[in-house]
Amino acid sequence: MTDSASLGQAISHAITSGGSVHDTESAPNIFAVPRDGELTQIAPGIFWGRLPLHYAPHHVNIYVLDDGDAWLVVDTGVDSTASRESWLSLISGPLASKPITRILVTHWHNDHLGMAGWLARRTGATLLISDEEHQRGASQADQPRQARDARERSYLLAHGAALPVLDRWLAEGFQNMSLISPLPETYIPIGPRDPVKVGKRTFQILPLSGHSPLASGLHCSEDHIFICGDQLSDRLVPPVAVMSDQPDANPYAGFIASMNLIRRSIPEDTLILPGHEEPFRGVAAALARQATKHTEVCNRLLKAAHEPQSAGELVPQLSRSDPGSTWFGFVVSRVVAYAHLLLAWGHLSRVVTDGRIYFTTTLTEEIEISRFLPTTETETTP
Ligand SMILES: [Zn+2]
Repeated sequence: MTDSASLGQAISHAITSGGSVHDTESAPNIFAVPRDGELTQIAPGIFWGRLPLHYAPHHVNIYVLDDGDAWLVVDTGVDSTASRESWLSLISGPLASKPITRILVTHWHNDHLGMAGWLARRTGATLLISDEEHQRGASQADQPRQARDARERSYLLAHGAALPVLDRWLAEGFQNMSLISPLPETYIPIGPRDPVKVGKRTFQILPLSGHSPLASGLHCSEDHIFICGDQLSDRLVPPVAVMSDQPDANPYAGFIASMNLIRRSIPEDTLILPGHEEPFRGVAAALARQATKHTEVCNRLLKAAHEPQSAGELVPQLSRSDPGSTWFGFVVSRVVAYAHLLLAWGHLSRVVTDGRIYFTTTLTEEIEISRFLPTTETETTP
């Protein structure tokens, strides 16, 4: 397993380019990374902006689409003073010529949904988001901290988390997930295959799950552009985690289905606009790299779980880097996601002893990459 495939590194987003423009083998286009308060045009009427994050990868992308006499913005950043300042600079700067009337949020995570409520109240814009993501984001934003913390704590303790680092996760990283400004009173639900007309373009919603309940990808087949949220990226591995409010979920089932949906729906020459990295081309290679990494982690897990292991015990065996307190709970939740996938495939068994959950390998054969990408042909039309 390469360093870049290391679970902890992937989770901590440590393999980001540090803000430099990334030129992939198949992506000769170079776009200037937008500075705070500025936008980079990446196609006629499509602009790329970046908002600061106070944790790795330290920035999140937003996209601004020209909607004739208005702007539609895709994703909004985490609810923070720094994000507010960036939005104010954008509104009084490159966006000053016309109003923002629609805000489309790909998925509920704080770095994407966080500023939607604030921005909607400030501009009067309407929020567009899938029902599933809205419900998840609203429950995260509305739940009292005490209840959230208690649920997370008992979930991670059951999965073998050590106490000092668990307490630090609850005090630090876990709180980041709730940095979501109160949501607007109303929203427009968007669903699979819905057309979203923006200016002269029509985007189709591609439903994507696994990283979050039902994210919305935006595909313009005519112009070969795909805004994918965090579901697809060039070098990072999109995190897939079992969250404490759905402790028995198997999110990889939806994630793998979505990988294959992307492969079937998005032509190879499409410009991919991701949530954190630079725009890139080469969807098949990106999916293949991700499938390779997932396969490697699964096989490491199966090797490590020859003796019963809790998810907490598996973390250092799957990751060479210490996730630190900021990401610790999330790393455990990611290990649980892999374990639940392997359980569903019949490669692991699960036992509960004294309230603690252990996983044991039952099938010694290695997982093949085809489990993650069973199709080999990429369709050229959606
Ligand atoms: Zn994100």
